Amino acid sequence: KTEYAFIGRSNVGKSSLINMLCNHKGLAKTSATPGKTLLINHFIINNEWYLVDLPGYGFAKRSKTVQKQLEQMISSYILQRPQLANVFVLIDVRHDQQKIDREFVDWLGESGVPFCIVFTKADKLGPVKARMNAEKWMHALEDRWVELPPYFITSSEKKLGRDDVLDYIDQINKSLEEAE
Ligand code: GDP
Repeated sequence: KTEYAFIGRSNVGKSSLINMLCNHKGLAKTSATPGKTLLINHFIINNEWYLVDLPGYGFAKRSKTVQKQLEQMISSYILQRPQLANVFVLIDVRHDQQKIDREFVDWLGESGVPFCIVFTKADKLGPVKARMNAEKWMHALEDRWVELPPYFITSSEKKLGRDDVLDYIDQINKSLEEAE
């Protein structure tokens, strides 16, 4: 079964996004406690594909040892999973480009892992400012990357961007089927 993984810094809104995509309250647990997803969770969407909830990175309150183990687990999962079709990297649309996100994105690019960016919490800025910030964030990648990944602007609160993300997953599924 094809897998689609979701990752981002703690509190970025990952559980809320997965909830929105699943359209099934309570399927992915949202929590006010950052860094709660310690293990990799799988969400079965239908017979063809999974959503995979990866642990948040850059959670300062974890010990160095736990953080290292998590990074090890995340990177081996991403690099050694033939059924992993795409990684969705979540970014809070209010934030400027942070080092930890940038390093992760660069690592995905260097490793040849297909990925795209999902900006979250767009409702906190409104549509115009959200788009502006997202474009600025993407633009900052151009110092290193010629070809930019696709990106989506979402709000789990306002149920925005759901169809865009799901259509993108459909599109990948179709191209994988055709390649078979
Ligand atoms: P996770 O740690 O990345 O899984 O983040 P959560 O999904 O648990 O969300 C962290 C906090 O951000 C919670 O208080 C959510 O209610 C809030 N949040 C998540 N998505 C949105 C959104 O689209 N809009 C707003 N306004 N708040 C959000």
